Amino acid sequence: MNAIVLLGPPGAGKGTVSDVLIARGYNHISTGNLLREQIRLETPLGLQARERMDRGSFVPDDVVVGMIREVMAASDGSQKFLFDGFPRTLIQAQMLEKLMVEVNGEVKQVVLLDCPDHVIIDRLVGRRTCGKCGSVYHVTFNPPSQGNVCDVEGCELSQRADDTEETVRKRLAVYQQRTEPLIAYYKEKNLIVTINANQSIAEVRADVSDALGVDAL
Ligand code: ADP
Ligand code: AMP
Repeated sequence: MNAIVLLGPPGAGKGTVSDVLIARGYNHISTGNLLREQIRLETPLGLQARERMDRGSFVPDDVVVGMIREVMAASDGSQKFLFDGFPRTLIQAQMLEKLMVEVNGEVKQVVLLDCPDHVIIDRLVGRRTCGKCGSVYHVTFNPPSQGNVCDVEGCELSQRADDTEETVRKRLAVYQQRTEPLIAYYKEKNLIVTINANQSIAEVRADVSDALGVDAL
């Protein structure tokens, strides 16, 4: 059971570029999506996580690692994982390493999506998502074909509560403080491949495909 980690600031395009690897059989695990599902189901975990997520703070490490442990326990050993938004702290990275050892697997590569802050703010403030299927759009950079409606489900798109400019700035500060140290951690293990994420969606997808040795979609 091997894994690829997508690393980078919120809004760098991790979810968007995931399609490349999902099409190659990777099981896409976004801790943000898993947490939002818990909120939607109004579970105790979701109710506890919501307040932190809405103000741009992290959910505690043990909660997030517990969710990943469950996902891995439920999978058969042949699956390849694509972790998106996990790990986000050094403790999570160390715990992931232990979990991978337990299943005889390893993190094969860490793809760092590099993107300047001002681009991120524009991307997140204009992000719209489908509550049903999770499709991600942007009002300007990746609009749906009709109005504010999902191309797949035909339902109204919504804006995430944490995608306001104020909360995005907070999330960027938290990223710098708590997640950026992972770059040195994975560089030391020789696992990092850095991609310029400040290009068109098609260019970023092509660069990720090239870097990982899969054909561009
Ligand atoms: P992340 O998963 O890293 O938080 P998303 O994939 O949700 O980021 O992308 C954030 C926003 O930016 C979305 O609205 C998406 O449509 C848009 N976006 C993603 N990649 C690009 C890109 N290369 N150029 C322009 N907009 C992009
Ligand atoms: P995302 O969908 O990746 O932008 O994540 C949305 C929010 O979920 C983050 O701002 C955090 O509050 C929370 N979250 C997601 N993944 C993690 C993680 N690995 N560790 C801590 N909090 C997380």
